Order: sequence, then C-alpha cells, then structure tokens
Amino acid sequence: MERIFVSIASYRDNELPRTIADCISKAMHPERLVFGIHWQHDNHEFFEQLYDRRCKVIDTDYRTSKGACWARHEAQKLYAGEDYVLQIDSHMRFVRHWDTVCEDGIRELQHRGNRRVIISNLMPSYDPDDDTNLSRACLSCRLGRFNQDGALALKASVLTETPERFSPGMSISAAFLFSIGDLYRDVRIDPDLYFDGEEISYAVRAYTHGYDLYHCNYPIVYHYYTRKADRKHWDDHGDWGERSILAKARMRSLLMETNEVPDLGPYGTGTVRSLADYERYSGVDFKRRTVSQPGDAARTADSRETVRSRLAAGGIGVAQIDPFSYCNARCWYCPVRYHPQPVEARHHMPIALFEKIIKELCEERDKQGLVNAGFNFIYTAHYNEIILYRHLAEMFEVFRRYGLRTLILSNGIALSKDKVDLIKEYNDVIGEQLCLNISAFERERWVANTVAGNGSSARTKRRAFNRTMKNIEYASRQLGAVSIQINEANPDEAEKQADIARQMFPGVPVRTCLTLSDRAGILHETGAVSNREEIGRMSAGRSRVVDCNNTFTGIGGRHFGWLHVNALGKAILCCNDYYFDYTFGDFRTDTLRDIWLSERHATVIERSFREICRKCSMAVWK
Ligand code: SF4
Repeated sequence: MERIFVSIASYRDNELPRTIADCISKAMHPERLVFGIHWQHDNHEFFEQLYDRRCKVIDTDYRTSKGACWARHEAQKLYAGEDYVLQIDSHMRFVRHWDTVCEDGIRELQHRGNRRVIISNLMPSYDPDDDTNLSRACLSCRLGRFNQDGALALKASVLTETPERFSPGMSISAAFLFSIGDLYRDVRIDPDLYFDGEEISYAVRAYTHGYDLYHCNYPIVYHYYTRKADRKHWDDHGDWGERSILAKARMRSLLMETNEVPDLGPYGTGTVRSLADYERYSGVDFKRRTVSQPGDAARTADSRETVRSRLAAGGIGVAQIDPFSYCNARCWYCPVRYHPQPVEARHHMPIALFEKIIKELCEERDKQGLVNAGFNFIYTAHYNEIILYRHLAEMFEVFRRYGLRTLILSNGIALSKDKVDLIKEYNDVIGEQLCLNISAFERERWVANTVAGNGSSARTKRRAFNRTMKNIEYASRQLGAVSIQINEANPDEAEKQADIARQMFPGVPVRTCLTLSDRAGILHETGAVSNREEIGRMSAGRSRVVDCNNTFTGIGGRHFGWLHVNALGKAILCCNDYYFDYTFGDFRTDTLRDIWLSERHATVIERSFREICRKCSMAVWK
C-alpha cells in the first residue's frame, strides 16, 4: 500500500495531539501514514503520540527555533521516500477519508498529462471547542496584492459556485499541501525564509521544477486561523525582525532577481520551466509588482459572454465521432504506448446512437442552424484503429445514407482482405482516403516502433510485420489510392524509411511527417515527443489562450468549429483530450442543440483555455 508522509512543524501548539489524532481517525487507511513532526516546545509540554511508532520526531527547545520555514525544512528531512507527502500546520481537522480523497485527486490530475501535480489550498476554519460542526463552504485561493516589501499574499473568499473539482493554482498554501513524494526530493524548503513570501516562493520554485499547481474546490482539511491565545515564534524571539528582513531579501532575489542575495544555493528556481514561464502562467509581474489574474471575475464574465455568443453563432464545420477508440498497436509517438486507454475507448458505440448523432448534425446543417452548410465530413480517429469497430459496414452505410464522407486512418495490422474489400465497396464514402500510418519499413525498426512491449513473442511481432506488409500490398492493388505517412522526427531516418516504402510499394504516394504533436503535453512527460519549446515561443509575451488553431480543414478551431464525440456518446473537447477529462454532454440522453449550447460547454471551453490548451502547440495566445 502506498505510504503518505505527513509533515508537521509545530510551535508550542496544544492542538498538535488533536490534529494527529484527527488525521489518523479520519484516514481510510491510517496504517499507511508516517508522521514527520518537528516539535518545538517548552519542557513542560507533551503530546500523546510522542512515542507512537508512526511518528518520527525532531525534538527542539522552542528557544532555539529559527522560525516556521526552518521548522518545516527540518521536518522535511524526515521524509524517507514515501509515495505521497502531506504538509500541514499543527492545528488542523480533516474530512472523512481525506487520504483517498487526496490520492484520487492526484491521480485524476495526473491524467491531464503531468505526473508532477500539487493540490494545495487555503481551507475553511474550524473551532477547537466545536470541531464536530465543520463548515461545508469552499474557499477560493487567489493571489492578493504585493506588500511594501515585495511579498505577494494569498487571499481567500467563499466560493458561491463550484463548477469543477479542481482549478489551476497560482500559489500554494503552506498549511495544506498534498503531492507526490518526489516533491520533497525536488523542492527543498528554504530554511532562511521566515514568514512573508514563503508560499509564493515555494509555488514558483515548484512550478519551475515542473509541478502543476491546483486548488481543490471542496474542503479536505480545516485550519484554525486565529489562535489568538497561542504564542507565536515572534512573541518569543526578539530577533525575529532581522530574520524577517533577511528572508525578504532572499524572496526578492528569487522572484524579482534583485541580487540582494547573490547565491540562493539549492533554493533557487528549477530548470524545467523559467520564472518568466510562471509569470506568463499566473499573470504576475514580479518586477512591476502587478497581478492580473486569469481568473478575475470580470475577465471570466467577459470571456463567458464571448464563449457563449460564439457557440450560439453556430459554425460546426467538422465532426469527429469515434465509435470505437481502441488501438491494436503501440506506436512510439502515441499516448497509447505509455498510458492505458480509458475504459470508454473499448466500448463499441451502438450504430443507432451513431446514426442519431449524424442525423442531428445533418438536420442542423439543413436548417442552417448550428452546423455549416458545407458540412459533409466525419473523422473517426481518436487514438484508435477504426477498422476494428464492430459496426464498420453499418457505419459506412450511415455515411452513404446521409451523403457524408470519411477517411480511414490505419496502421495496417488488421487491414485484412475482407476489410479492404469492404472499403472498396464503399468507395463513394471513403473515396481516395485510406491513409496508412507506418513509422518504419525495416522489420526490426517497425517492431521497435509499433508493437514493442505488447506482450507477444518476438516471432509473433515479426509475423505481424510480414502480415502488415502483405495487407498494404493487397490494399494498394485493390484500392489504387492508398497513401502512406511515415511519422518520424529524424529527417534522415524518415527519408530512409520513405525510400524503402517506395521500393516496396511502387506507385503508392509516401510522405514523411517530421512535426509530431506531444498531445497537449501527455507525451512530453514520457520523453517521447515535446512541443514545449514551440509553446514557449508562441506564448512569449502573452498571458492567455484565447483560441485553437487546430483546424485541419481550415474550417475553425476545435472549440467552436468541431464537434468531438467519444464511443460512449459523450461530447468531448478535442482529439487531444486523451482521458476524456473535458466532457460536456451525452448524446444518449441529450440533443446536439442542448449539448452545444449548454452552460457546461461554455465552462469546459473556459477551463480548457486555462488548462489543457496552455500545454498544446495548437493554442492561440494573446
Ligand atoms: S488548443 Fe486546445 S482545443 Fe485546440 S487542439 Fe490543443 S488542446 Fe485541443
């Protein structure tokens, strides 16, 4: 079972034992908790879990304490490779099963393409004298203003609307932070910070180390904010002012590059992203000390109106309906090789549902509604091998009935004679559009590129290559208009494979594709393909994504010009939404019009501008 390291820095806090007890009693799996406690106390103080074997304790006389960041830094040293870290204050309460709530949240967010994610929030308060009556209110967590020393504070307000479980975060809260264990290895807490600037400094450092920041829009823990009767570090330490001055100089050196502290040692920014990347992401300009938040209420309202009116104007020019999204290969440039396909992908869409969607699209077109007059084309290619769809012939029949056309993208492995003959029979639907994505024509290279790691024997894989070549040969004779695309980033290698293909299949057009998509970052994380540099260039000097350039047909970006539907019948954002995280309607129960014009659709688009599109090389920046 995966273990959670719970880091607590406690300063003369009577709430410490109750915090630990609540943490244990509310966890679904308390046996996997490991506490790292920095206990700063007077010699008459005690806490009941001191000798609990789950608690590793640093015992410090409070007179020798150097402040909260130092205390957290010391507690961090107790981390010993646990799978997750939870950092909290010593005066907290928890929701029931908080451990699985956090872990599930991390997994859900990791599906958006980055393994390194942090959930951190300002949280509602609790009353130690009445801690059974906990608020259900959710707090937003925003950047506030710069103070005169250059520290940027967080501000909270009660959320009146919580459309999504998570929203992108611009900072962290030191009092509640949950992440993968690697965070504590990658980003050490700077012991020489004191109070002001602790959270924004750590957020920027984590972000530049490649961590995506998220706030959750529901309570996981509760925090006792006021603690008026309790002594704080600055109450006991006359030198706190000097510490604080030095700490702020460090913070400004990190964020404003003032060079007051020329060498920050291991507590500088990371190398995965730059400080400028963070500023673009967050809308903060540290040197000018300004904040323009993407989530500002005014801007959101403005954007919502724009989104709504663009949706209402209609303009669907193309539809991508993926009635079966399973793939039988594992090509090196595809997420399927590295990430399990979502369960929905293996579902075969009933043909009646498929026809319902087609019918509604055509009706909207014919009455000059939401669909363009020129609409006549359907894609069926969401990380899949469409010829494996159980209702392939019926699907072609639907296209024929409604006068629509499609193209077949195939890796050739299952392109048997029967399938080729079927495609030939529906030449009026498919026309000259059978495109074979084959990344290599040398057998061993094809095996390595296409089916490596699929569990079958080397002999079976080689036979698959031989069969694929035979399939192509038959298809090229029967259909006469087959094309081959070689996806290969290395130009010399691409040309070499193209030459071999031309020799093997004379007359078949062969083209190379050197520009590969990292699928909104999901492949960047695997190291297979990266578009980060390109995105950095496109977003330089710009702060917001406002549109999508992935038109393909020149008709319109994915948000407003395309309809995408997965095999379950759910409307999804676009072909880069590998895990179907951005769904906004269900064709099994709703009509195209209801789905397209729904409030949820507008919300999903706005969310995509803040999330997935920022990681996509097709985004349009402003
Ligand atoms: S910019 Fe956004 S909508 Fe367009 S392809 Fe990329 S992720 Fe999809």
